[in-house]
Order: sequence, then structure tokens, then C-alpha cells
Amino acid sequence: MALDLVCGTVVDEEEAAYISQYQGMTFYFCSPECKMAFDQEPEKYLRERGEGMFGAHEG
Ligand SMILES: [Zn+2]
Repeated sequence: MALDLVCGTVVDEEEAAYISQYQGMTFYFCSPECKMAFDQEPEKYLRERGEGMFGAHEG
């Protein structure tokens, strides 16, 4: 499962219809609105939610 970074919804990669590629990574979205929002400001969403998803786990 993947996380829609824009709204936080869990998305099934196999069924996701809205997909973006950024910095060699693939991101899945629940709706065209979420995909567009990410495409416009990917850095913003990666900063807000990406750390918990891709960063090292603390503790
Ligand atoms: Zn969404």
C-alpha cells in the first residue's frame, strides 16, 4: 500500500489511477486533484509527510 501524500489516504498501488513520478520515486494518489496538487508543489508534500514515509525511523 502507498500513502497519498496530499490527503493522507492509503492507496492500493495496483488500483491507483493517479500516479506521479518525482526524483525517481513513484507516488500514488486517490484523485486527480491530489495528483495535481502534488505535481505543482511536490517538495511541499514531501516535506510535510515524506519524512515519516521515507526517512529513517527514530527510536
Ligand atoms: Zn488524496
